[in-house]
Amino acid sequence: MAALLRAGSVSSRELAEVALAAISATDRALHAWLAVDADGALAAADAADRALVAARAAGHEGLAGLHPLHGVPLGLKDLVSVRGLPCTAGSRILEGYRPPFDAHITERLRTAGAVIVGKLNMDEFAMGSSTEHSGFGPTANPWDLDRVPGGSSGGPAAAVAAGHVPVAIGTDTGGSIRQPAALCGIVGLRPTYGRVSRYGIVAFASSLDQVGPFARDVRDAAALLHAVAGRDERDATSAPVPVPPELLDLPGSDEVAAATLRGVRLGLPREYFVTGMEPGVEAAVRAAAAELAAAGADVVDVSLPHTEYGLATYYIVAPAEASANLARYDGVRYGHSERGSGGDYITDYKLTRGHGFGAEVKRRIMLGTYALSAGYYDAYYLKAQKVRTLIKADFDRAFAGGIDALVAPTSPGVAWPFGAKMADPVAMYASDACTLPVNMAGLPAISLPCGLAEGLPVGLQLIGPAWSELGLLRLGRAYEAITSSAAWRTATPPGLASAADPTTPTPAERAAVLAGVRP
Ligand code: GLN
Repeated sequence: MAALLRAGSVSSRELAEVALAAISATDRALHAWLAVDADGALAAADAADRALVAARAAGHEGLAGLHPLHGVPLGLKDLVSVRGLPCTAGSRILEGYRPPFDAHITERLRTAGAVIVGKLNMDEFAMGSSTEHSGFGPTANPWDLDRVPGGSSGGPAAAVAAGHVPVAIGTDTGGSIRQPAALCGIVGLRPTYGRVSRYGIVAFASSLDQVGPFARDVRDAAALLHAVAGRDERDATSAPVPVPPELLDLPGSDEVAAATLRGVRLGLPREYFVTGMEPGVEAAVRAAAAELAAAGADVVDVSLPHTEYGLATYYIVAPAEASANLARYDGVRYGHSERGSGGDYITDYKLTRGHGFGAEVKRRIMLGTYALSAGYYDAYYLKAQKVRTLIKADFDRAFAGGIDALVAPTSPGVAWPFGAKMADPVAMYASDACTLPVNMAGLPAISLPCGLAEGLPVGLQLIGPAWSELGLLRLGRAYEAITSSAAWRTATPPGLASAADPTTPTPAERAAVLAGVRP
């Protein structure tokens, strides 16, 4: 798109119109979008076109000054503040709320000239692994409309996999970028904690949340990361670490990209090949590791012994922080608000929160409040923070020992049918076993498509030391290069054909049928 825009053979308005048409064609059956801002997108596209005309008049210099995302349509997970647009974070409690300001990353995207098309579905407050916990109904996986797209950023992943937009923004607190990227067969990157400002992003668990890109390929993901990364005074945890300009210079040539694998040391952490892992997933991930080795990487077995505690400690720390962050939804300051007949504030507060929050959010608030309460704080929260240090030390040891990156599955299984894990919260939590430790340690990690199992996408996860996003993206680009002729690379998500049929049921109707309930 960037090349066509620069050549003048397509306009940003045309690209925005194509995105809007693709959304109207298939989103009834997918439900990736919670809000589409057609007017705003077309106005931004026209502004991008005017800037392109001016840049073209200024010659090569002028065009070179434009960001690769200039004039390109994209979507945002519905927890990114965009002035004047709805921002629900997938929750009924935020229904009707329109932020009066832009998030830092929204400002950055506008500066880059990107065209914001709308807001994408997600599990309520980013709590979940399937997008079934959205207060506005589930999203379907473009590969199989009866299956989940993963979560919590299921909307962004499905919209990119469906070809609505080439790139989208998600957040990853425990895996919510990487896991849906894996389940939808696209690229997703969770940056190092502190790489991207959280200013204007609805908070889930503040010590774990990070914003990152979804894309069809590694270079697109790198361009989006480049646009949003960097220090912001309004988020004290955003780090003053320079954003490498080389993010925009990943090799286009497969030959050049593949050559970068020679001498790279990759570790296969044995604890990530968890019991209960689907055999097709394990086979695809091991085959990917073998291909990396055959292309010149040195692949060695490593052990990260505290991996098994990742799940338990995450489900103390994340709900604890969430219970504090969610205290602000009191029916006074944001969105949904209920009034009881008693006229007292506590009654209104209970009604608003009782009806505004969904079951999973209430479960997390209860877990978190319990873990933080006097008498339990030391036993649970403090203990979990200590184990968190041990999880981080495992990674530090591997990287200090000369490992450049770890190679692991992203998810132990492929996309599952609607409802399969809804009755069992622990089964839903367990699907994040391979992504959570990275968040506990604050590290960057990328998920890359690496093949199909039973016709559904499998994700390959690469984990690196802090601030190694460029290295991970280079590795990812190299993996793309050595697998560029694989048959699965050109497969289109088979659900898209029926998604375009207006008689196809919506995801909510499908989920109801699968749950044995009449829609
Ligand atoms: N699935 C995990 C959870 O429910 C992670 C979610 C996320 O990364 N936002 O907490």
